[in-house]
Amino acid sequence: MAQQEDVFKKIISHCKEYGFVFPSSEIYDGLGAVYDYGQNGVELKNNIKKYWWDSMTLMNENVVGIDSAVFMHPTIWKASGHVDAFNDPLIDNKDSKKRYRADVLIEEQIAKFEDKINKEIEKAAKRFGDAFDEKQFRETNPRVLENQGKIDELHARFAKALNDNDLVDLRQIILDYEIVCPVSGTRNWTEVRQFNLMFATEMGSTADGAMKVYLRPETAQGIFVNFLNVQKSGRMKIPFGIAQIGKAFRNEIVARQFIFRMREFEQMEMQFFVRPGEELEWFAKWKEIRLKWHKSLGLGDEKYRYHDHEKLAHYANAATDIEFEMPFGFKEVEGIHSRTDFDLSSHEQYSGKKIQYFDPELNQSYVPYVIETSIGVDRMFLSIMAGSYSEETLEGGDSRVVLKLPPALAPVKLAVLPLVKKDGLPEKAREIMDNLKFNFNCRYDEKDTVGKRYRRQDAIGTPYCVTVDYDSLNDHCVTIRYRDTMEQERVPVAGLENIISDKVSMKNLLKQIAKS
Ligand code: ATP
Repeated sequence: MAQQEDVFKKIISHCKEYGFVFPSSEIYDGLGAVYDYGQNGVELKNNIKKYWWDSMTLMNENVVGIDSAVFMHPTIWKASGHVDAFNDPLIDNKDSKKRYRADVLIEEQIAKFEDKINKEIEKAAKRFGDAFDEKQFRETNPRVLENQGKIDELHARFAKALNDNDLVDLRQIILDYEIVCPVSGTRNWTEVRQFNLMFATEMGSTADGAMKVYLRPETAQGIFVNFLNVQKSGRMKIPFGIAQIGKAFRNEIVARQFIFRMREFEQMEMQFFVRPGEELEWFAKWKEIRLKWHKSLGLGDEKYRYHDHEKLAHYANAATDIEFEMPFGFKEVEGIHSRTDFDLSSHEQYSGKKIQYFDPELNQSYVPYVIETSIGVDRMFLSIMAGSYSEETLEGGDSRVVLKLPPALAPVKLAVLPLVKKDGLPEKAREIMDNLKFNFNCRYDEKDTVGKRYRRQDAIGTPYCVTVDYDSLNDHCVTIRYRDTMEQERVPVAGLENIISDKVSMKNLLKQIAKS
C-alpha cells in the first residue's frame, strides 16, 4: 500500500513536471482542489473528450449533442432535488479540527475489513499454490467469514442510516466502530451535520433585486430542460440520447486526492430517453457498452469492475459505477443510473409545462424514462495517467519513466529529431514535420543527445520518434523508434504517414468497439 501511495505521489509530480496538470493559482500558494491543465494535459484531455463524444454521436445514430450554459434558472435545482438533498453528512474531530464526510469514514472502515479478507486470501493463495480455490476459501475460512459478517452488518446499518437520513445513527456508527480521526487519532467527534455542495452566486445588480443562481453541480439538468427543444427540432424518436460535455462545480469537503475530487471539474454525460418499462433493459445495454469503451483503451481489463449500488439516489431505480484501479484502490470513474421519469416529471411540475413524448407506435403520450451515463473527464484523465505510468529498468542498469498512453490519446503522436543541428538535417526534419503536421500532433526537438530526447518523449507518452541522420539526406529513410518496445527500424519517409496514422487513429479504436 505504502508503495502504491508512493506511485500516486510520483504521478502527481510527473503531471506537474511534464506540463500535464498544475495546481491552480500556484504563485499564490494554490486554491484547494482546483487544478489547471498544462500544454500536454490539455491535449490528452481534449483527446479523451473527442473519443467519448465520437463514441456517442458517431456510433449511435440516435444520440445527438448539446452545449448548455453553466448558469440555469434557480428553480431547476429545486426541481432536481439539489437544493434540498444535495448534501454531504459532515463530522468534525474536536482535537484535530479536521472535517470529514461521515459516510467516507464509514466506507474506509468497511475497506479495512475487506483488506483483512484480502490478506487472508493472499496468504492462503501462496500456501496452496495452484490448488487454491478462492471461492471455497471465502465460503469456509472462519476468519474470512467473521470479517465478511462484520462487513455485511455494518453495510446494512450504514445503508439504512443513509437512506433514512439518520444523522444521529451515522454518528453512533462511527462511535460504535471506534473510528478514529486519521490526524489526531482520537474519537472526540462533533454531531453530524448536512452541508449543501452547490456554489451560489448572484446574477444582476442588487438594486434590481439580484437573483441567487448556482453554478451547476452536474451537466445533466441542462439536457433535461432542453429535452423538448432537441426532440422537436431534431424530430427525434424514442429511444434517443442527448450527450453533453461541460464544467460542473461542487463545494467538496473532502478534496484531497489530486484531480480525483475537484471543486471545478468536467463531466461527459449522456441521457438516453426510453419508453417506461424498458429502462432496465437499456440500463443493462449501456452498462455493457460503457465498460467496452473503457476496456478498448487497452490499459488492462482487470483494472475495471462494476460496483452496483445498494443505496439508490432519490431519483434512481438502478445504479452502478464503473470503477478503475487507481493507486489508492478501486474508485468510481463513471456512474450509470436508471433515473426513471424523476427529472422530466419534476420539471413538468415545477415549470407548469407539459414535457411529454407522443409515441406514434403506441399512439400515446408519456414522460420518458431515462438512463444516464455520467463520467468525469478529470477522473478519466487520472485513470489513464495511473494506468500508463511505468518505471522501467533497462539493460545496462539505466532506467526510464514512460507513459504508455493509448496512442490515440497521446498528446504528441510523433517527435521528429535531427541527429545533429547542422548539415541540412534540421531542414530535412522540418520538411517531414511540415508534411505530417496536418495529420496529427508532431513535435520537433533538436536539443541534447538523441537518448535524452527519447526519454523526454517517453515521459509524455509520445508513441513514435523518428531520427533524421546523414543517410536520410540521400536515401530518404529515417529511423523510427517505438515507445513501448524501444525497437528501431529504418523506414522510408514516404511511408511514415501510413505507419503512424493507422496506429494513432481514433477511428480504429471505435471500429474495434463496434466489432466486439
Ligand atoms: P463521488 O461519490 O465520488 O462523490 P458521485 O457519485 O457524486 O461521485 P456523480 O454525481 O455520479 O458522482 O458524478 C458522475 C461522475 O462525475 C463521477 O463518476 C465522477 O467521474 C465525476 N465527478 C463527480 N464529482 C467529482 C469531483 N468532485 N471531481 C472530479 N470528478 C467528479
